[in-house]
Amino acid sequence: MNGRFLILTGILAFSASHSPAANTPAWQKVSSTHFIVMHIGDDSLAKTVSERAESYYSTIAADLGYTRYQNFWLWDNRVKILIYPTAEAFSEACDAPAWAAGRASPQRHEIASYHQSGEGFLSTLLPHELAHLILSDFIGESRVPLWLTEGFSEWVQGGRKSPASGRLMSRRFPLKTLFNLDIRRDTDRERVTLFYAQSASVVGFLIKTYGGDAFGAFCRALRDGKDLPAALAAAYPQDAPSLDVLEQKWLSPPMINP
Ligand SMILES: [Zn+2]
Repeated sequence: MNGRFLILTGILAFSASHSPAANTPAWQKVSSTHFIVMHIGDDSLAKTVSERAESYYSTIAADLGYTRYQNFWLWDNRVKILIYPTAEAFSEACDAPAWAAGRASPQRHEIASYHQSGEGFLSTLLPHELAHLILSDFIGESRVPLWLTEGFSEWVQGGRKSPASGRLMSRRFPLKTLFNLDIRRDTDRERVTLFYAQSASVVGFLIKTYGGDAFGAFCRALRDGKDLPAALAAAYPQDAPSLDVLEQKWLSPPMINP
């Protein structure tokens, strides 16, 4: 898959084969430690995007117990963020459907969107997609379970808070079901909402309760080829020796972790 088109909720996605042409002279760069923001014209939004991206990066890195990855996304590996001047220019260059607000390409290390006012891109799409890209790089795209990458991205996007309500959680999936769900073709809006919220709740529980070092160890165990129960047991030997034990811990009060 070369890229994913995104609405602001980040839920809809499909593959695309086109890539933006960002090498015309009109494009300018704002470079930072881990990002190159490409834009046309006034650079004020690009500077804000650059600052926010670095801030999200630091938070996400800490969640992954980051110290071993000090050369992650530096220099030639910096992630490119393309901001097209208009929705039409973005849509045309990326061959994007009218509803798409952005495109994330893990293989290209790239996020593309367009100049828009308000916080939608800065506080929703940008953190969500950065979390996806970082986790993909950290674990390997083919090894990341869907609940983990969507749960992590939702949790980061939500300001490191779970969006789950008690009412929603009363219809929760058993963890064994959640961990094997592929919700991408599901048309039941409530199941999709529950999947995202519950995944974020489990990720938030793991990080807040046991810290970034343990969460990083869990991700590295997945990267190194362990299946999900084995990776959980390796990183959380006391608290997730089995999925049943993890489920009890997660459900023990308070059920919804901040
Ligand atoms: Zn997502």
